[in-house]
Amino acid sequence: MSAAGIYIHVPFCLRKCPYCAFYSRIYSTEAAEEYVRAVCRNIAALADRDITADTVYFGGGTPSLLTSEQVGHILDTVRKSVHLADPEITLEANPTSVTEEKLRDWLEAGVNRLSVGFQSADDEQLKFLGRLHDSAGAENAVIKAREAGFRSISCDLILGSEGQDIGSLDRTLDRLLSLPIDHLSAYMLKIEEGTPFDSAEIRSRTADDDTLADLYERLCSRMSAAGWEHYEISNFARERSYRSRHNTKYWRLDPYIGIGPSAHSDFGGRRYYCPDDLSAFIEADLQPTETEDSSPDRAEEYVMLGLRLSEGVDLGRLTEYGGDAEAFMRRAKRFAGTGLLTIDGERVSLTEKGFLVSNSLIAELV
Ligand code: SF4
Repeated sequence: MSAAGIYIHVPFCLRKCPYCAFYSRIYSTEAAEEYVRAVCRNIAALADRDITADTVYFGGGTPSLLTSEQVGHILDTVRKSVHLADPEITLEANPTSVTEEKLRDWLEAGVNRLSVGFQSADDEQLKFLGRLHDSAGAENAVIKAREAGFRSISCDLILGSEGQDIGSLDRTLDRLLSLPIDHLSAYMLKIEEGTPFDSAEIRSRTADDDTLADLYERLCSRMSAAGWEHYEISNFARERSYRSRHNTKYWRLDPYIGIGPSAHSDFGGRRYYCPDDLSAFIEADLQPTETEDSSPDRAEEYVMLGLRLSEGVDLGRLTEYGGDAEAFMRRAKRFAGTGLLTIDGERVSLTEKGFLVSNSLIAELV
Protein backbone atom coordinates (compact mmCIF):
# COMPACT_ATOMS: atom_id res chain seq x y z
CA MET A 1 0.00 0.00 0.00
CA SER A 2 1.23 3.54 -0.74
CA ALA A 3 2.31 5.62 2.22
CA ALA A 4 -0.63 7.48 3.75
CA GLY A 5 -1.19 11.20 4.15
CA ILE A 6 -2.28 12.63 7.47
CA TYR A 7 -4.67 15.56 7.37
CA ILE A 8 -5.30 17.58 10.53
CA HIS A 9 -8.28 19.90 10.34
CA VAL A 10 -7.78 22.93 12.59
CA PRO A 11 -11.29 24.27 13.09
CA PHE A 12 -10.57 27.81 14.28
CA CYS A 13 -10.65 31.21 12.59
CA LEU A 14 -10.44 34.73 13.97
CA ARG A 15 -13.53 35.64 12.01
CA LYS A 16 -15.67 33.84 9.47
CA CYS A 17 -15.17 34.93 5.85
CA PRO A 18 -18.64 35.36 4.29
CA TYR A 19 -18.01 33.01 1.33
CA CYS A 20 -16.49 30.17 3.31
CA ALA A 21 -18.22 26.85 3.91
CA PHE A 22 -15.31 25.08 5.63
CA TYR A 23 -16.04 24.05 9.18
CA SER A 24 -14.53 26.38 11.75
CA ARG A 25 -15.42 28.14 15.00
CA ILE A 26 -14.17 31.42 16.38
CA TYR A 27 -10.75 30.87 17.97
CA SER A 28 -10.34 30.71 21.74
CA THR A 29 -7.18 29.65 23.57
CA GLU A 30 -9.09 27.24 25.84
CA ALA A 31 -10.87 25.46 22.98
CA ALA A 32 -7.59 25.27 21.04
CA GLU A 33 -5.87 23.60 24.02
CA GLU A 34 -8.63 21.02 24.35
CA TYR A 35 -8.67 20.48 20.60
CA VAL A 36 -4.90 19.83 20.49
CA ARG A 37 -5.22 17.28 23.31
CA ALA A 38 -7.96 15.49 21.34
CA VAL A 39 -5.88 15.54 18.14
CA CYS A 40 -2.91 14.00 19.96
CA ARG A 41 -5.15 11.31 21.54
CA ASN A 42 -6.41 10.37 18.10
CA ILE A 43 -2.96 10.31 16.55
CA ALA A 44 -1.52 8.26 19.43
CA ALA A 45 -4.28 5.70 18.82
CA LEU A 46 -2.77 5.01 15.39
CA ALA A 47 0.38 3.63 17.03
CA ASP A 48 -0.59 -0.05 16.98
CA ARG A 49 -1.62 -0.04 13.31
CA ASP A 50 1.86 -0.01 11.75
CA ILE A 51 1.12 2.96 9.49
CA THR A 52 3.67 4.57 7.19
CA ALA A 53 2.94 8.17 6.22
CA ASP A 54 4.87 10.59 4.05
CA THR A 55 2.75 13.73 4.25
CA VAL A 56 1.17 15.70 7.07
CA TYR A 57 -1.13 18.60 6.24
CA PHE A 58 -2.49 21.16 8.71
CA GLY A 59 -5.57 22.59 7.00
CA GLY A 60 -8.52 24.55 8.22
CA GLY A 61 -9.78 26.79 9.43
CA THR A 62 -6.64 28.69 10.29
CA PRO A 63 -3.84 26.37 11.45
CA SER A 64 -1.51 29.36 11.90
CA LEU A 65 -3.59 30.33 14.95
CA LEU A 66 -2.12 27.36 16.83
CA THR A 67 0.94 28.20 18.88
CA SER A 68 4.19 26.77 17.62
CA GLU A 69 4.32 24.57 20.77
CA GLN A 70 0.95 23.10 19.81
CA VAL A 71 2.11 22.40 16.25
CA GLY A 72 5.32 20.89 17.64
CA HIS A 73 3.38 18.73 20.10
CA ILE A 74 1.12 17.39 17.36
CA LEU A 75 4.09 16.60 15.11
CA ASP A 76 5.98 14.88 17.94
CA THR A 77 2.92 12.71 18.50
CA VAL A 78 2.76 11.90 14.78
CA ARG A 79 6.44 10.88 14.80
CA LYS A 80 5.89 8.59 17.79
CA SER A 81 2.78 6.98 16.35
CA VAL A 82 3.45 6.35 12.66
CA HIS A 83 6.52 5.74 10.53
CA LEU A 84 7.19 9.10 8.89
CA ALA A 85 9.22 8.67 5.74
CA ASP A 86 10.80 11.76 4.12
CA PRO A 87 7.66 13.74 4.95
CA GLU A 88 6.20 16.80 3.31
CA ILE A 89 4.67 18.74 6.22
CA THR A 90 2.42 21.60 5.15
CA LEU A 91 0.77 24.24 7.29
CA GLU A 92 -1.87 26.64 5.98
CA ALA A 93 -1.24 30.15 7.23
CA ASN A 94 -3.22 33.36 7.10
CA PRO A 95 -1.04 36.45 6.68
CA THR A 96 -2.42 38.03 9.87
CA SER A 97 -1.19 35.20 12.08
CA VAL A 98 2.31 34.83 10.63
CA THR A 99 5.18 36.18 12.72
CA GLU A 100 8.93 35.75 12.30
CA GLU A 101 9.07 33.83 15.57
CA LYS A 102 6.28 31.46 14.57
CA LEU A 103 7.90 30.84 11.18
CA ARG A 104 11.17 29.87 12.81
CA ASP A 105 9.44 27.65 15.35
CA TRP A 106 7.29 25.91 12.73
CA LEU A 107 10.42 25.10 10.75
CA GLU A 108 12.10 23.79 13.85
CA ALA A 109 9.06 21.64 14.61
CA GLY A 110 9.41 20.05 11.16
CA VAL A 111 6.96 22.03 9.01
CA ASN A 112 8.66 22.31 5.60
CA ARG A 113 5.93 23.72 3.38
CA LEU A 114 3.82 26.82 3.97
CA SER A 115 0.55 27.51 2.21
CA VAL A 116 -0.34 31.20 2.46
CA GLY A 117 -3.91 32.46 2.00
CA PHE A 118 -2.89 35.27 -0.37
CA GLN A 119 -6.17 35.38 -2.39
CA SER A 120 -5.62 38.67 -4.26
CA ALA A 121 -3.23 41.60 -4.53
CA ASP A 122 -6.20 43.98 -4.72
CA ASP A 123 -7.23 45.37 -1.34
CA GLU A 124 -10.79 46.13 -2.50
CA GLN A 125 -11.23 42.47 -3.50
CA LEU A 126 -9.80 41.33 -0.17
CA LYS A 127 -12.32 43.56 1.61
CA PHE A 128 -15.15 42.20 -0.50
CA LEU A 129 -14.08 38.67 0.47
CA GLY A 130 -14.10 39.68 4.14
CA ARG A 131 -10.43 38.84 4.58
CA LEU A 132 -8.58 40.30 7.55
CA HIS A 133 -5.32 40.90 5.69
CA ASP A 134 -4.31 43.39 3.00
CA SER A 135 -2.06 42.67 0.04
CA ALA A 136 1.02 44.21 1.68
CA GLY A 137 0.53 41.90 4.67
CA ALA A 138 0.25 38.86 2.40
CA GLU A 139 3.41 39.77 0.48
CA ASN A 140 5.23 40.38 3.71
CA ALA A 141 4.21 36.95 5.05
CA VAL A 142 5.61 35.25 1.94
CA ILE A 143 8.88 37.19 2.04
CA LYS A 144 9.32 36.55 5.75
CA ALA A 145 8.65 32.85 5.27
CA ARG A 146 11.39 32.58 2.64
CA GLU A 147 13.77 34.59 4.79
CA ALA A 148 13.04 32.31 7.74
CA GLY A 149 14.08 29.35 5.61
CA PHE A 150 10.92 27.91 4.02
CA ARG A 151 12.02 26.29 0.77
CA SER A 152 8.52 25.44 -0.39
CA ILE A 153 5.85 28.14 -0.32
CA SER A 154 2.42 27.97 -1.88
CA CYS A 155 -0.16 30.72 -2.26
CA ASP A 156 -3.93 30.50 -2.68
CA LEU A 157 -5.64 32.75 -5.19
CA ILE A 158 -9.37 33.35 -5.63
CA LEU A 159 -10.82 33.91 -9.09
CA GLY A 160 -14.11 35.70 -9.61
CA SER A 161 -14.49 38.24 -6.82
CA GLU A 162 -16.21 41.54 -7.39
CA GLY A 163 -14.22 43.87 -9.61
CA GLN A 164 -11.79 41.26 -10.88
CA ASP A 165 -11.17 41.61 -14.59
CA ILE A 166 -8.22 40.52 -16.71
CA GLY A 167 -6.28 43.68 -15.84
CA SER A 168 -6.72 43.17 -12.12
CA LEU A 169 -5.87 39.47 -12.37
CA ASP A 170 -2.73 40.43 -14.28
CA ARG A 171 -1.72 42.81 -11.52
CA THR A 172 -2.20 40.08 -8.90
CA LEU A 173 -0.19 37.61 -10.98
CA ASP A 174 2.55 40.19 -11.52
CA ARG A 175 2.82 40.53 -7.74
CA LEU A 176 2.64 36.79 -7.09
CA LEU A 177 5.23 35.93 -9.72
CA SER A 178 7.62 38.51 -8.30
CA LEU A 179 7.46 36.81 -4.91
CA PRO A 180 9.54 33.79 -3.80
CA ILE A 181 6.75 31.26 -4.24
CA ASP A 182 6.89 27.72 -5.61
CA HIS A 183 3.27 26.68 -5.94
CA LEU A 184 -0.06 28.32 -6.67
CA SER A 185 -3.59 27.04 -6.05
CA ALA A 186 -6.33 29.02 -7.80
CA TYR A 187 -9.94 28.54 -6.75
CA MET A 188 -13.01 29.91 -8.42
CA LEU A 189 -15.23 31.77 -6.00
CA LYS A 190 -18.25 29.57 -5.47
CA ILE A 191 -21.31 30.85 -3.67
CA GLU A 192 -22.01 28.11 -1.14
CA GLU A 193 -25.49 27.52 0.17
CA GLY A 194 -26.12 28.83 3.67
CA THR A 195 -23.12 31.19 3.73
CA PRO A 196 -23.60 34.98 4.13
CA PHE A 197 -22.67 35.28 0.43
CA ASP A 198 -25.63 33.13 -0.55
CA SER A 199 -27.79 35.95 -1.93
CA ALA A 200 -28.88 37.27 -5.32
CA GLU A 201 -27.21 40.59 -4.57
CA ILE A 202 -23.78 39.02 -3.99
CA ARG A 203 -24.22 36.70 -6.99
CA SER A 204 -24.84 39.73 -9.18
CA ARG A 205 -21.60 41.31 -7.98
CA THR A 206 -19.34 38.31 -8.62
CA ALA A 207 -18.01 37.01 -11.93
CA ASP A 208 -20.40 35.15 -14.22
CA ASP A 209 -19.39 31.91 -15.95
CA ASP A 210 -18.00 33.64 -19.05
CA THR A 211 -15.86 36.00 -17.00
CA LEU A 212 -14.63 33.09 -14.87
CA ALA A 213 -13.67 31.19 -18.01
CA ASP A 214 -11.76 34.24 -19.31
CA LEU A 215 -9.98 34.66 -15.98
CA TYR A 216 -9.04 30.99 -15.86
CA GLU A 217 -7.72 31.06 -19.43
CA ARG A 218 -5.67 34.14 -18.64
CA LEU A 219 -4.29 32.49 -15.51
CA CYS A 220 -3.28 29.37 -17.46
CA SER A 221 -1.53 31.33 -20.19
CA ARG A 222 0.30 33.58 -17.73
CA MET A 223 1.52 30.64 -15.66
CA SER A 224 2.58 28.74 -18.75
CA ALA A 225 4.44 31.81 -20.08
CA ALA A 226 6.22 32.00 -16.73
CA GLY A 227 7.35 28.39 -17.22
CA TRP A 228 5.21 26.88 -14.45
CA GLU A 229 3.82 23.38 -14.63
CA HIS A 230 0.01 23.15 -14.67
CA TYR A 231 -0.22 19.74 -13.02
CA GLU A 232 -3.81 19.82 -11.79
CA ILE A 233 -6.89 21.80 -12.87
CA SER A 234 -6.43 24.35 -10.06
CA ASN A 235 -2.77 23.89 -9.23
CA PHE A 236 0.52 25.09 -10.64
CA ALA A 237 4.08 24.26 -9.57
CA ARG A 238 7.25 26.19 -10.34
CA GLU A 239 8.88 22.80 -10.93
CA ARG A 240 7.66 19.26 -10.62
CA SER A 241 9.31 18.84 -7.22
CA TYR A 242 7.05 21.58 -5.81
CA ARG A 243 3.78 19.80 -6.53
CA SER A 244 1.69 19.25 -3.42
CA ARG A 245 2.45 15.65 -2.53
CA HIS A 246 -0.34 15.61 0.03
CA ASN A 247 -3.12 16.86 -2.24
CA THR A 248 -1.92 14.60 -5.04
CA LYS A 249 -2.89 11.69 -2.80
CA TYR A 250 -6.55 12.74 -3.06
CA TRP A 251 -6.44 12.82 -6.86
CA ARG A 252 -4.60 9.51 -7.11
CA LEU A 253 -6.84 7.70 -4.62
CA ASP A 254 -3.91 7.10 -2.29
CA PRO A 255 -4.80 6.53 1.38
CA TYR A 256 -5.20 9.40 3.83
CA ILE A 257 -6.28 9.71 7.43
CA GLY A 258 -8.15 12.83 8.55
CA ILE A 259 -8.16 13.98 12.16
CA GLY A 260 -10.49 16.67 13.47
CA PRO A 261 -14.10 17.77 12.95
CA SER A 262 -15.09 17.67 9.26
CA ALA A 263 -11.90 15.80 8.26
CA HIS A 264 -12.39 13.02 5.73
CA SER A 265 -10.44 9.76 5.52
CA ASP A 266 -9.89 7.09 2.94
CA PHE A 267 -8.06 4.39 4.77
CA GLY A 268 -8.18 0.65 5.26
CA GLY A 269 -10.70 0.25 2.45
CA ARG A 270 -13.19 2.60 4.10
CA ARG A 271 -14.16 6.20 3.40
CA TYR A 272 -15.36 8.05 6.47
CA TYR A 273 -15.49 11.46 8.08
CA CYS A 274 -15.60 13.03 11.48
CA PRO A 275 -18.78 15.12 11.81
CA ASP A 276 -18.63 18.95 11.99
CA ASP A 277 -18.82 19.18 15.77
CA LEU A 278 -15.88 20.53 17.72
CA SER A 279 -17.40 19.73 21.14
CA ALA A 280 -18.10 16.13 20.18
CA PHE A 281 -14.54 15.81 18.86
CA ILE A 282 -13.05 17.23 22.06
CA GLU A 283 -15.23 15.15 24.38
CA ALA A 284 -14.88 11.81 22.65
CA ASP A 285 -12.03 9.51 23.58
CA LEU A 286 -11.57 8.78 19.88
CA GLN A 287 -13.14 10.96 17.21
CA PRO A 288 -16.62 9.88 16.14
CA THR A 289 -16.75 8.81 12.49
CA GLU A 290 -19.46 8.22 9.94
CA THR A 291 -19.06 6.08 6.86
CA GLU A 292 -19.23 8.15 3.70
CA ASP A 293 -19.95 5.49 1.19
CA SER A 294 -19.66 1.84 2.10
CA SER A 295 -18.94 0.68 -1.45
CA PRO A 296 -17.57 3.54 -3.54
CA ASP A 297 -17.09 2.91 -7.23
CA ARG A 298 -13.30 3.21 -7.23
CA ALA A 299 -13.01 3.07 -11.02
CA GLU A 300 -15.43 5.98 -11.40
CA GLU A 301 -13.64 7.95 -8.68
CA TYR A 302 -10.30 7.25 -10.34
CA VAL A 303 -11.52 8.65 -13.67
CA MET A 304 -13.15 11.71 -12.08
CA LEU A 305 -10.11 12.60 -9.98
CA GLY A 306 -7.40 11.35 -12.35
CA LEU A 307 -8.66 13.59 -15.14
CA ARG A 308 -8.07 16.60 -12.90
CA LEU A 309 -4.36 15.85 -13.15
CA SER A 310 -2.29 16.67 -16.22
CA GLU A 311 -0.91 13.11 -16.01
CA GLY A 312 -4.50 11.91 -16.58
CA VAL A 313 -5.90 8.40 -16.34
CA ASP A 314 -3.78 5.32 -16.82
CA LEU A 315 -5.72 2.45 -18.39
CA GLY A 316 -3.77 -0.17 -16.42
CA ARG A 317 -4.74 1.44 -13.11
CA LEU A 318 -8.31 1.86 -14.27
CA THR A 319 -8.45 -1.89 -14.89
CA GLU A 320 -6.95 -2.53 -11.43
CA TYR A 321 -9.85 -0.55 -9.96
CA GLY A 322 -12.28 -2.79 -11.81
CA GLY A 323 -13.05 -0.28 -14.56
CA ASP A 324 -13.80 -1.10 -18.19
CA ALA A 325 -10.73 0.41 -19.86
CA GLU A 326 -11.95 -0.40 -23.37
CA ALA A 327 -15.28 1.35 -22.89
CA PHE A 328 -13.48 4.33 -21.36
CA MET A 329 -11.12 4.51 -24.34
CA ARG A 330 -14.06 4.38 -26.77
CA ARG A 331 -15.65 7.34 -25.00
CA ALA A 332 -12.33 9.22 -24.96
CA LYS A 333 -11.80 8.63 -28.69
CA ARG A 334 -15.02 10.49 -29.45
CA PHE A 335 -13.20 13.62 -28.32
CA ALA A 336 -9.98 12.94 -30.23
CA GLY A 337 -9.29 15.88 -32.53
CA THR A 338 -11.32 18.36 -30.47
CA GLY A 339 -8.24 19.63 -28.64
CA LEU A 340 -9.95 18.85 -25.34
CA LEU A 341 -7.96 15.72 -24.49
CA THR A 342 -4.94 13.76 -25.54
CA ILE A 343 -4.55 10.02 -25.84
CA ASP A 344 -1.00 8.86 -25.41
CA GLY A 345 -0.74 5.07 -25.50
CA GLU A 346 -2.31 3.87 -22.27
CA ARG A 347 -2.97 7.34 -20.89
CA VAL A 348 -5.82 9.79 -21.38
CA SER A 349 -5.50 13.34 -20.11
CA LEU A 350 -7.32 16.63 -20.51
CA THR A 351 -5.66 19.60 -22.18
CA GLU A 352 -5.94 23.10 -20.73
CA LYS A 353 -8.85 23.67 -23.09
CA GLY A 354 -10.35 20.48 -21.63
CA PHE A 355 -9.72 21.69 -18.06
CA LEU A 356 -11.88 24.69 -18.86
CA VAL A 357 -14.92 22.50 -19.56
CA SER A 358 -13.84 19.70 -17.22
CA ASN A 359 -17.19 19.29 -15.44
CA SER A 360 -19.14 18.42 -18.57
CA LEU A 361 -16.23 16.60 -20.21
CA ILE A 362 -15.58 14.35 -17.22
CA ALA A 363 -19.30 13.59 -17.01
CA GLU A 364 -19.16 12.38 -20.64
CA LEU A 365 -16.11 10.22 -19.96
CA VAL A 366 -17.14 8.55 -16.70
S1 SF4 B 1 -11.69 31.23 4.24
FE1 SF4 B 1 -10.14 30.46 5.67
S2 SF4 B 1 -9.93 32.12 7.18
FE2 SF4 B 1 -11.83 32.51 6.08
S3 SF4 B 1 -13.40 31.51 7.36
FE3 SF4 B 1 -12.76 30.04 5.80
S4 SF4 B 1 -11.21 28.80 6.75
FE4 SF4 B 1 -11.43 30.69 7.99
